[in-house]
Amino acid sequence: MSQIVIQDWKARAEALSIPTQAYIGGTFVPALSGKVFPCVFPGTGQPIAQVAACAAEDIDQAVRSARAAFESGVWSRMAPADRKRIMLRFAELILANREELALLETLNVGKPISSSLNGDIPSAANCIAFYGEAIDKIYGEVAPSAPDMTTLVMREPLGVVGAVVPWNYPLSMTAWKVGPALAAGNSVIVKPAEQSPFTALRMAQLATEAGVPPGVLNVVPGYGETAGQALGLHMDVDCVTFTGSTEVGKLFLTYAGRSNAKRVSLELGGKSPQIVLADCDDLDAAARAVAGGIFTNAGQVCNAGSRLIVEDSIREEFLERVAAIAKALRPGDPLNPDTKLGPLVSAPQMARVMGYIEGGTAAGARIIAGGNRALTETGGYYVEPTIFDAVDNAMAIAQEEVFGPVLATIAVKSFEEAVSVANDTIYGLAASIWTRDVKKAHRAARAIRAGVVWVNCFDKGTMSVPFGGFKQSGFGRDKSLHAIEKYMDLKAVWFAT
Ligand code: NAP
Ligand code: MG
Repeated sequence: MSQIVIQDWKARAEALSIPTQAYIGGTFVPALSGKVFPCVFPGTGQPIAQVAACAAEDIDQAVRSARAAFESGVWSRMAPADRKRIMLRFAELILANREELALLETLNVGKPISSSLNGDIPSAANCIAFYGEAIDKIYGEVAPSAPDMTTLVMREPLGVVGAVVPWNYPLSMTAWKVGPALAAGNSVIVKPAEQSPFTALRMAQLATEAGVPPGVLNVVPGYGETAGQALGLHMDVDCVTFTGSTEVGKLFLTYAGRSNAKRVSLELGGKSPQIVLADCDDLDAAARAVAGGIFTNAGQVCNAGSRLIVEDSIREEFLERVAAIAKALRPGDPLNPDTKLGPLVSAPQMARVMGYIEGGTAAGARIIAGGNRALTETGGYYVEPTIFDAVDNAMAIAQEEVFGPVLATIAVKSFEEAVSVANDTIYGLAASIWTRDVKKAHRAARAIRAGVVWVNCFDKGTMSVPFGGFKQSGFGRDKSLHAIEKYMDLKAVWFAT
């Protein structure tokens, strides 16, 4: 694409109005303290906005507003068909404002504009529409209790739901929480990651425009240690739904224990294996999937396929193919529509990733592609797609979530060893296996302890399929009708007859 198109996005970026205040009770408000924090554009490292730094007193305001809306019944007891109509309108408004939202997302986290435009924003709209459609299709039950009793099992919303979300897919992660929580009839308070508040704030405003009553959807930007913790500890929040690191996810369990035993669901990190067996009959397709599995979104993906577990007999020829893809994938300006690989989200994240790259080399692994920062003259946080060979699964680059474009290759001698190495991790979010042996595929799918297993593919997903982890990758599922269960309670009502 031509330079003119790039200039076009840049010109639009300059004309863009960035939402910077908290959204509480259907309106934008500053933090009560008046404090703000900076957000930078990862493509240049330059600050582009000062955003309200909410703390405990702001969270309290948001909870009061959410609680009042919930108790009033404006949303929680609205007729299902009406709530559905509003959710569908909300989804339409997200799509109608797609370019603005895409630009906000790209400026905020450095995601390539084509990904924001064609991936994140429509997928968030699709999620809201999916749960809107579900609203009038969720039934209660009549239990087979006793001949002289009629026993209803009713589903009720929980009340006030806190959603604490990360920066890697800011709008779509927010939608994964907000969609089912609103569909269930709750009021919601979103705490975006400090790096990425823009699209959640704009989304809340669009919800109001669509007819979601004031107080039902609130967004409180701020730091995790203040705003996030206050939400986790609040005595009048009924549930926290979290996506982010395993370390912070565990903190939310302690917050719940120290406060009101609120329920918590956690979608945490991963160290997902991509297994390629020697009998794989399409090494080119496998190589494309393996590269896509780790370099998409610059590797800042919870289910990134960060460990390549490959049978030694094909290791060299397979790695050649993956390395060729990595070398052709040049990091670029996220506002250029041709860019496929943008910068990392922040300077600390880049430092963390470079630290893992240095650590991998020091531990004895061998870099066969990338390994360096890129485009340093821009001031942006670019890192080359990096592939390590000769990794031992005990090394930090094979055990810890790097959250960057870094693939660790572990050679194995057999199918059994591949499955055993795949499971040798504290995580269990996702996995893939490439083989033409249907028996091995089935055995692997059963043996691997992960919430998702892809066979001869990677990263397939639709709203109709649940997503979430085993082990320290968390519990509770996002997406699909199952996600709604996290935001509802069962009530048994006995009628003596
Ligand atoms: P994180 O620290 O777990 O942040 C996730 C969310 O929790 C953010 O909204 C964050 O707010 C909040 N938070 C942070 N510390 C908190 C605390 N003490 N109490 C309450 N809330 C808190 O993740 P991150 O800083 O964005 O990234 C760190 C690492 O997490 C990454 O390198 C990666 O390994 C992992 N990660 C995983 C996913 C995933 O989808 N599984 C997504 C993102 C990151 P602030 O941003 O304001 O601190
Ligand atoms: Mg953080």
